[in-house]
Amino acid sequence: MFLSVVVPCMNEQESIAGLVARLMLVIEPYKDRAEIILVDDGSKDDTWNEIKQAQDICPQVKGIRMSSNRGHQIALTAGLEAAQGLRIFMLDADLQDPPELLQDMMIMMDRGYDVVYGRRAERQGETVFKRASAYAFYRFLNLMSDVEIPRDTGDFRLVTRRALDAVLAMPEKSRFLRGMFAWVGFRQIGIEYNRAGRELGETKYPLSKMIGLAMDAMTAFSTKPLRLATRLSFVSFGVAGLMMVYVLHSLIVYQTAPGWASVVMAISAFSGVQLLTLGILGEYIGRLYVEAKARPLYFIAEQTDADVPVVTRKRA
Ligand code: UDP
Ligand code: MG
Repeated sequence: MFLSVVVPCMNEQESIAGLVARLMLVIEPYKDRAEIILVDDGSKDDTWNEIKQAQDICPQVKGIRMSSNRGHQIALTAGLEAAQGLRIFMLDADLQDPPELLQDMMIMMDRGYDVVYGRRAERQGETVFKRASAYAFYRFLNLMSDVEIPRDTGDFRLVTRRALDAVLAMPEKSRFLRGMFAWVGFRQIGIEYNRAGRELGETKYPLSKMIGLAMDAMTAFSTKPLRLATRLSFVSFGVAGLMMVYVLHSLIVYQTAPGWASVVMAISAFSGVQLLTLGILGEYIGRLYVEAKARPLYFIAEQTDADVPVVTRKRA
């Protein structure tokens, strides 16, 4: 197998047929040596039937249905684990990422790159809020993180087998794949493209999921937030020192216990700091707990092809 295309799909019944039609054109040059793996991430709609029907039109399609919804990153991981190709191309089901970019990505890979990712030059049809939050997210992430994670990229990329195997060898449960691909190294390059609006259906990434992804990204690639606690404690010691001067001064000069304002202020400021640092600790401890439980990431309920290797990789 030369090329594997991996697409996670959740409630994408409207998109599957169009997606497969476009992918068929794109994989034409590699026809007999290509597969299209569609992962149904616990859809509630007709996605699974659509995937099965797509197989009648396009024999390269292989469907995997997960036992329930596990989220984009895990659905993608499931597809990547099933992929057998030497080059692996991943994209979203909604065609926001143009599959035709594969040609250019292939050229870059022929030149020796292991990871060729799409970098969004422009985002159409996305709300100002989504654009602004994505902008802030990537900047903040790189500020906090220990590896350089390419900005404005998603999970639209072509990778070589060795880059994929490196990522699949990483056993963690909270999977921020774009960071993991950045972390493995090798030669990487981005190709700019204009990100179109979603054609059909609606976004499967509400704010809550975006925050979840951001937290995973932050904690998986950096321990800087933990150090924040120490830094904040210096600040609060500083403020406490100034307070002490003020309190002693008032006591000596005015012989009064000064108003409650300063007390309330101090208490609220410091309890805020304490809660913040506790929260940061909690984020890491929660993830340690999840890792320690070492549960399988997902289960496969059904698959269209017997030859898709369903290895739920053993993660120590
Ligand atoms: N997706 C998934 N599981 C989820 C959420 C999303 O498999 O729990 C898939 C979805 O079907 C799509 C891709 O992940 O193929 C990206 O989702 P979406 O396009 O909704 O995200 P956005 O482009 O709005 O960030
Ligand atoms: Mg989308």
